[in-house]
Amino acid sequence: MDYDVLILGGGLIGCAVAYELSKYSLNIALIEKDYDIVDDVTLVNSAIIYDGIQCEDNIMSKLQFMGNDIIGDLVSKFNLSYKKCDSVIIAQNKKQGECLEEVYKRAIKRGVPNVTLLEGKHTYNLEPNLNLNVINTIYSQNTGIICPYDLGIAYGEIAFDNGVSFKLEEIVEDINKINRGFKVVTNKNKFTCRMVINTTPEDYNIDGFRENDSSNKGYLKYFLVEKEFKGNFNNIVFTYNQDNEVIYMHPTVQGNYIAAIKTKDNISYEECYRRISSLVHGLKQDDINSFYESEFYDDLMIIDDSLVDKGYIKVTGKNFAEVTMTPSIARIIRETVESNLKCKLKNDFNDKVREIYRFRDMSNEERSKIISLDKRYGKIICTCNKVTEGEIVDAIRRPLGARTLEGIKRRTGAGGGSCKGAQCMNKIVSILARETNKKMTDIVKDSKNSRILLNRIKEFDDI
Ligand SMILES: Cc1cc2nc3c(=O)[nH]c(=O)nc-3n(C[C@H](O)[C@H](O)[C@H](O)COP(=O)(O)OP(=O)(O)OC[C@H]3O[C@@H](n4cnc5c(N)ncnc54)[C@H](O)[C@@H]3O)c2cc1C
Repeated sequence: MDYDVLILGGGLIGCAVAYELSKYSLNIALIEKDYDIVDDVTLVNSAIIYDGIQCEDNIMSKLQFMGNDIIGDLVSKFNLSYKKCDSVIIAQNKKQGECLEEVYKRAIKRGVPNVTLLEGKHTYNLEPNLNLNVINTIYSQNTGIICPYDLGIAYGEIAFDNGVSFKLEEIVEDINKINRGFKVVTNKNKFTCRMVINTTPEDYNIDGFRENDSSNKGYLKYFLVEKEFKGNFNNIVFTYNQDNEVIYMHPTVQGNYIAAIKTKDNISYEECYRRISSLVHGLKQDDINSFYESEFYDDLMIIDDSLVDKGYIKVTGKNFAEVTMTPSIARIIRETVESNLKCKLKNDFNDKVREIYRFRDMSNEERSKIISLDKRYGKIICTCNKVTEGEIVDAIRRPLGARTLEGIKRRTGAGGGSCKGAQCMNKIVSILARETNKKMTDIVKDSKNSRILLNRIKEFDDI
């Protein structure tokens, strides 16, 4: 066999599974169709770490609560940016108030700690800027905010450093059952393996394995709000409007805010602004940096191991709290693989992310020190987010290094400031071309057909 385990898909779940399995003496490869890992994670790099109280389903709630706990450990182990941020869920009418009482009772029954039901008036002590008629509130001290992309990159880099082979830009086309394993056919190769963990949405016809379709439950529309916005909240604030749509606002780990609405209708920017303003008073159009919209999913996340005796596990479902559930899903898969392959833990597993130096977070003394070691840390490329050439070169040279403009932006923040790359895009393209030994015209934004510079217009040596 070429591999003990083949993981299909290098999204957040695929990378988390790769990390968990890289703790074992196993020969593992991960196949991802895109140029980069964790490419599909939410574009606005910030996610709420939920605690499971808003979930109706008990198993999803448990996956969230377990994931919340594991992320607490990973944050310090992987040195990730994390904002411990409590949350309030606010009812504005009697019916919503009764629902919140039920949610509270359910949370207590599930044994979720640090959750309190507050009378309306006490909510203003937590949120003095609130301008709503509050009936009652659930206050949870379990929640937080993370950058899911950093989590995925950390999972991927550690897995890579512990021997997982990442096959990027390779599309899985078919899987065939063979004696004691599988043959996985990609657009470039054929691999044999003992087990397959499929984390992609694709379904391959293995012994009539059934597909579990994701069902779109509406839309999530959100504004990225500038750091300077005043009138923000102290907690993650959720509330419902007259039509029971959820409107919420929370800070991001980068210091901005996200103001969002979950809606059944595909509403316009203006309508979104109008509805969100009912919670976020004083939000001006000038405060909005960007507008994002996406489909909203609330599927059950299922680890389908019905074919595990043959060596096949499939993760199905799309869920708004998938980031929170990912660590628990990966641990469950790890336990299943361990008992299936009877594998042993490695003695030399290295559970560390290589150091990252962020110029904007350093003291002047630290800056002088790093510049004396590498002068590229003294050359600012992205002035909005204070990202240096040193950080961009590191992002390219690290394990599973960035190869695209988007990869640089997500790893370092370069090009993600208020000028949206107008000042630095050319410089980043030039560094990427130099470091990867490519022409500037071959550098892409994120995928094959997203070239940034189409042609040279003048034949100078430098642009
Ligand atoms: C707008 C939005 C907001 C969200 N907010 C939150 C939040 O606040 N909190 C939270 O916990 N979660 C949140 N989520 C959920 C979470 O960010 C994503 O759902 C999750 O990251 C998806 O991870 P995944 O690994 O399951 O899927 P994907 O990232 O889709 O991974 C699948 C991977 O498989 C690859 N692939 C597909 N087909 C093939 C093939 N044939 N061959 C090889 N590779 C293939 C894809 O390229 C992809 O990389 C949010 C999601 C959205 C959309």
